[in-house]
Formats: sequence, C-alpha cells, structure tokens
Amino acid sequence: MVLIVGTGVGGAIIAMELAKSNIPVTIVEKGPLADVKDSYKYYDKIDDYLDLSKTCCVGGSSVVAAGNAVRLLEEELKEYGVDISAELDEVEELIGVHQLDDSHFGEGTKKFMEAAKSIGLSVIKMPKFIREEECTQCGKCAWGCPNDAKWTSKDFIKIAIENGAELISEAEVTDILTENKAVKGIKVKYKDDSVKTIESDIVVLSAGAINSAIILQKLGLKAGEKLFIDPFVTVGGVLKNINYSSEVTMNALFIGNNFVLAPHYSIILNQNLNDDNIKKEDILSVMVKIPDDNHGKIVDGKIIKENTIKDVRFIAEGAATAGAILVAAGVDPNTITSTHLRGAHPGGTAAIGDIVDTNLKTDYEGLYVSDASVIPEAPGAPPIVAILAISKRLSKHLINKLSN
Ligand SMILES: Cc1cc2nc3c(=O)[nH]c(=O)nc-3n(C[C@H](O)[C@H](O)[C@H](O)COP(=O)(O)OP(=O)(O)OC[C@H]3O[C@@H](n4cnc5c(N)ncnc54)[C@H](O)[C@@H]3O)c2cc1C
Repeated sequence: MVLIVGTGVGGAIIAMELAKSNIPVTIVEKGPLADVKDSYKYYDKIDDYLDLSKTCCVGGSSVVAAGNAVRLLEEELKEYGVDISAELDEVEELIGVHQLDDSHFGEGTKKFMEAAKSIGLSVIKMPKFIREEECTQCGKCAWGCPNDAKWTSKDFIKIAIENGAELISEAEVTDILTENKAVKGIKVKYKDDSVKTIESDIVVLSAGAINSAIILQKLGLKAGEKLFIDPFVTVGGVLKNINYSSEVTMNALFIGNNFVLAPHYSIILNQNLNDDNIKKEDILSVMVKIPDDNHGKIVDGKIIKENTIKDVRFIAEGAATAGAILVAAGVDPNTITSTHLRGAHPGGTAAIGDIVDTNLKTDYEGLYVSDASVIPEAPGAPPIVAILAISKRLSKHLINKLSN
C-alpha cells in the first residue's frame, strides 16, 4: 500500500493515477472534506509577520485557486535532469486548460487588455481551468467557487476513491517512521487527539512546501531552506462603476522580464482608500507578482522570509508598469494605492538536487516528496500545472516500480 500525505495539487494526482492502476492507496489529510463553496473557511491563520495564503482542507490550496494554468518550468527542470514535457501536455488535457470564451471577459478585464496594448505591452488571455458553462462570473474564485466551476484537486481525490483509494481526513501526519534509512510508515494525530501509526514502505509527502519541510526536518533532513513564495501586491484605483470585482479574476496576463501582471481585485484597496463613496464596484486593479530569491527558511515551525534588494526592485518595476496601465485605462491617478506584500505560492523547501533526487526520492528508501517543495527556484507565476506534471511523472515512476 502507498501512503500519500496531503490531498492538494501534488498528492491528489498521484493518488488518482496509482488507484487507477489498481495500486492500494491510503491518503491522509489534515483538513476536513468540505464543499468547494465553503473553502474560504479553511484558510490557515496569517500572522503579522508574513501574509502567506494557503488552505487546509481536502483539495489543498487548489480549492481557492484563481484557475490560472500557466505552463511553467519545462526548460528550467531539464537543467536538473527532470523532463516534464509529456506530463505538461497530459495535465493540460486532464484539467481542460483553455482560454475562456469572450463571453467571460468583463469591462474591467477588457480595459486592462486595451490599456496595456495602448502603451505597447503584449497581453494575452490567461489560460484557465474554468468551465464557462458553470461559471457565473462572480469574482469569488479565491473564496471557493460557489458553482464548482473550476477544476480542483478534489476532483482527482473523488476519482481516486472511486478506484478504491481510502481517504482519511481530519488526520494530521506528525512524523515519518523509519528504520535503517528506509521508511516504515507514518504517525497520525486524529481530531480527537488520539495518535496511531500506519505502516507502509512507500510514503509520498505532499503536505505543501511549509508542512512537508517541517515533517522532513524531524528526520534530520536539511529541508525548509531556500523557501520562495512568489510575492505579490495588488495595485489599483478608482474608475467609477467599472464593476471589475465581480469579473473572472486574473483573466488576462502580461509577462514582463521580472514580473507578471494580471487584473485582480482585493478588498484591501477599498480599506486603504477609506472613503464610503468609493465602492468595490469602483475599483480597477492589477496584481504584480515576482519570482523572489529563494532566501526564506522554516525554523522551529516558523517562516522567516525577508525581501532581498532584487525582490524589491522587481516589485517596484511591476507596480510602476501596473500604474501606467491603470492610468491608460482611465483610473484616477490620485487614487492609486497598493496592498501590502503577500504570497500564495510557497515552494523550494525540499528542492530537486538538494533534498530529493530526479525521481523525487529522499535519502530514505521509499520516502518521496511531491508538491511545491521540490521546485528549485521561484517561478513567479501560477505553479499548479507544473506541480501536477511533476507529480504525474512520479506516479509513472511508482507504477513502474510497483508493477515490476
Ligand atoms: C488564493 C490562492 C489562489 C491561487 N491561485 C492559483 C492559480 O490560479 N493557479 C496556480 O497555478 N496556482 C494558484 N495558487 C497556488 C497553488 O494553489 C499552490 O501553489 C498549490 O496548491 C501548491 O500545491 P501543493 O501540493 O504544494 O500544496 P497544497 O495544494 O496546499 O496541498 C497540501 C495539502 O496537505 C495538507 N497537509 C498539510 N500538512 C499536513 C499534515 N501534517 N498531514 C496531512 N495533511 C497535511 C493540506 O491541508 C493540503 O490539503 C493559488 C494559491 C492561493 C492561496
């Protein structure tokens, strides 16, 4: 039996692929099984030091994803001896990646695209894993879609279960059990505080970049270093009655040298403007996201993440470009404000070449890691498609190993 820790982007696809190949699978997930529409309730608490968003429930952070499907890391990972080209194709097909129909582009997104073009920037429609026929364009992707109109890892967990996999939710994996440098199972803490062990000689750790690293550190591995988070700000201002806040979020993309831009609304902008006459319907805004230096660390369970000089420069370049687009779109320049720096793509903490080999195996026989932890450098763009491809590649390796 293969034990998979975590039902997010990395874990779910492996569970599905192994179960479909008749390999017994048990999936252990810390969070509850909830409706996608309720996902906003399962965001982890954020501390004052770092605003890093992630959710703890079946489906991991995919349940609050904006549905962006950028094809990433194909060339970069080849330098580490990992070719995911075939898996990227397979994954794009599996989750239905496509650019949305024109009917799903609202006034705000159109203004962003036209304004970017008018100042000489080349902007594209964002590739998405959203089904237009179910999407009511409410702008609530990051709350958990009220209509379940986008792919989430929950879809793969459902298929895994239909193919015989067992899901144990509300059960936190606290330790990996080993003997003579080989994995023997996991220690699990249940909701009622009882603790049990589950034995297996193959464990795939997919608890996300923060939690996988914390678990690996208990084994004495040097995980939890080289953390990146793809920091972002949302910059915006007033364009009366544009009503962008209820459009499909991040439906267009500009790829700069050191940053990416996409239309994106945040309530923080209204809070900053602090004027009752300015409604959320009056804001047009743009997300600026950068690939940060992977200088973060997890120490004693706490995230330490400073911004380097380069990080600050990239954010400033992106914010300046976003401002130019907003003004060209008709936003009142006197109202332009920004959110604080946030992050939603933690990764790098158990990187290929450092903590895992090209088959994502650690120094421990039978212990694999497959989630954003294994990505060596910040992509600075949505990583779901790449994480799925990396994990699909591992599932092929495991199926091959277990069938021989
Ligand atoms: C608001 C938001 C919007 C986003 N939008 C996009 C987007 O549009 N496109 C994109 O590509 N990316 C997007 N991302 C990023 C993307 O969701 C993450 O990069 C991705 O989910 C990371 O996958 P993962 O497998 O590493 O971790 P996760 O998907 O977070 O999965 C980790 C899982 O492990 C579970 N777990 C943690 N600890 C334990 C434990 N000890 N025992 C058992 N289970 C445990 C967690 O509960 C979770 O289910 C977004 C992220 C956020 C927060």
